[in-house]
Amino acid sequence: MAYDPNNIFARILRGEIPCKKVYEDAHVLAFHDIRPQTRVHILVIPKGSYASMDDFSAKASEAEIAALFRAVGKIARDEGVAESGYRILANAGADANQEVPHLHIHIFGGQPLGPMIRPPK
Ligand code: 5GP
Repeated sequence: MAYDPNNIFARILRGEIPCKKVYEDAHVLAFHDIRPQTRVHILVIPKGSYASMDDFSAKASEAEIAALFRAVGKIARDEGVAESGYRILANAGADANQEVPHLHIHIFGGQPLGPMIRPPK
């Protein structure tokens, strides 16, 4: 998947579109999902131009990878879901229905989350 510099999260990173920020550091931005699917639903994104987990895992630096995963854990603790439990999810590509072509990790929590995934029909 080629990186589209005009995707919505690239525009949020450039400050062209507002977001409800919960966390930021040199490599990471995190904000509330605009259409939350659970009581806590946060998106954690790298600041680098990575379309999905596919190119992030292949091309990102150790520092970027560490920062993203450290941030996910910190945000979950700060949002109060680390004790009760939470789920992280990153859709990559067409079969996963990835909507926004900039890597994002969803954090879902604040309630029981049900089964991990729907079985195929
Ligand atoms: P995906 O299906 O790509 O894994 O998830 C994309 C997510 O981005 C969806 O949960 C959707 O609600 C969220 N989203 C789409 N546009 C915006 C936006 O402009 N702002 C925020 N905060 N979230 C967005």
